[in-house]
Amino acid sequence: MPTPNAHALLSASSAHRWLACTAAPHFEENFPDGTSTYAEEGTLAHSICELFARKKFTAMSARKYNAELKKLKEQPLYQEEMIATATAYVEYLTEKAMSYTKAPHVAMEVRVDLTDYIPDGFGTCDCIMVGGDTLHITDYKHGKGVPVSAESNPQMRLYALGALRLYKPIYGDTIKRVSMGICQPRLSDTASEDAMSVEELLAWGESIKPTAKEAYDGPGTFCPGDHCRFCKGKDLCRARAAYYAGFSEFMGADIEGRMTEADGLGADLPPILSNAEVADLLIKAEGLAAWYKDLQEYATGALLSGDEIPGFKLVEGRSNRAFSDLDGAVKTLLDAGYAEAMIYDRKPKTLTEMEKMLGKKTFAELLSTFVTKPKGKPTLAPASDKREAFNPGAAEFEGVGNG
Ligand code: SF4
Repeated sequence: MPTPNAHALLSASSAHRWLACTAAPHFEENFPDGTSTYAEEGTLAHSICELFARKKFTAMSARKYNAELKKLKEQPLYQEEMIATATAYVEYLTEKAMSYTKAPHVAMEVRVDLTDYIPDGFGTCDCIMVGGDTLHITDYKHGKGVPVSAESNPQMRLYALGALRLYKPIYGDTIKRVSMGICQPRLSDTASEDAMSVEELLAWGESIKPTAKEAYDGPGTFCPGDHCRFCKGKDLCRARAAYYAGFSEFMGADIEGRMTEADGLGADLPPILSNAEVADLLIKAEGLAAWYKDLQEYATGALLSGDEIPGFKLVEGRSNRAFSDLDGAVKTLLDAGYAEAMIYDRKPKTLTEMEKMLGKKTFAELLSTFVTKPKGKPTLAPASDKREAFNPGAAEFEGVGNG
């Protein structure tokens, strides 16, 4: 077994990218590893989750637990919300453990060997449970920007393959089923889950081997798409630029909709886009907007570091006035005879702030009868979106949809 490198070229967490774009792993080597406050916050939140899970599932003394929690709470990025998210994570794990007929084996932060499927591959599972014929793996996600689905998720499948390999010497062929859950409590109260037979999982593992080898050996094939979002080379990738700058199949019409032979494209295309073309454009334009934002961020960073982006400069953005000494300003008004009622607004905290303060459970117990959720306005979403399709007829009947 080769010794895993500190950074695997093909990580499980980036599998959705290198499975789609086999050029990405080597291309990304051109760019430095970045870190962000979000990533550091995520690491701290993971540590709290791990501590809570160890407390729940292992024999950890209260003294050790309190000492470790105190240390974590002293971290500069610590937020009270991390206690609520770690509690939700452990509640999910407990629910999973209870679904076994006998208490399962539970292990946290398990390093798994993925070299049977991806060269030099390894990963770390947040939690593995094994019992009866089922292996369950859980991944905690702290991010709240992008919901991560467990369905057909290659990172989860790779972790499951690594966990199967790890536990095979102990459990032999008794494990027949694998279930996978992603717990992302800042975005959803319910974990996203997927399940498959061990047979199906092993077949999937075999199916990705040639792609993994191509991505590992390089140079691979550039293939832009939604997976570019977290690629380290996304700002300066020529393939991505060509993809979004092109839109060639929709060109060929001037602003009045006339076709030009010179374009070589579209001479036989009608001036009006079809709904199928609109659908295609909607998908591409979403990526285009993300690409434009990435370019802006890259150019801003380059100019801040003193590099030149021809035709562009940095200017001072808009800002709002603020009191340099709010207490002093208030005192001045009070001294001048203004009543407190004219200076202060007394208003309750928002629903979200109250829920954060009380925790979901207490909030539900005390305040759920006071909560109402009006119907949202019709919003465009891809057909794959899990929400039920909006029904204009029913909405009209209920008086929704017209503003
Ligand atoms: S930006 Fe997209 S196309 Fe370019 S290397 Fe990264 S994943 Fe591949």
